[in-house]
Amino acid sequence: MTFDMHEDGGTFYNAYAKVNGFSIRNYNMHKDNAGIVKSRKWVCSKEGYRDTKYLEREDQIRGPQALTRVGCPVVFSVTLERSSGKYLVNNFVSVHNHPLIGPCGVPFLRSHRKVLGLKIEGRTRCAFLEICRIESPLFLRNFSHQLPDLNIF
Ligand SMILES: [Zn+2]
Repeated sequence: MTFDMHEDGGTFYNAYAKVNGFSIRNYNMHKDNAGIVKSRKWVCSKEGYRDTKYLEREDQIRGPQALTRVGCPVVFSVTLERSSGKYLVNNFVSVHNHPLIGPCGVPFLRSHRKVLGLKIEGRTRCAFLEICRIESPLFLRNFSHQLPDLNIF
């Protein structure tokens, strides 16, 4: 698989992550002396481990936050193929070491956290409601109160 631009690789992988229920994080990017991106790498947001200095602090007033990194090995990287000028996928690991989130949780993941207003036949619909198919009248009343221009009904 190749991409014309390295950003396209990130867009593709973020869409892949959204469908599969995980969030991605930029890991690194290498440029040559001319400033041309030679390679880029994205990882699962649960890649790596929290630094132990944050776990062992005794002067902490509040308790530590929940652990979010579990050493997930998932990676996606592209490298510039000089002959074609395109970015070639050179590393793809797809097996996580943690459960993936369901479709209703995906909009809350950092790499997918965007508020989308969809214009459908002159009415604004909330993408969140579309995705999760939430029809609770109480939820809709509370939600529409917070966003008065939202016309759900
Ligand atoms: Zn993962």
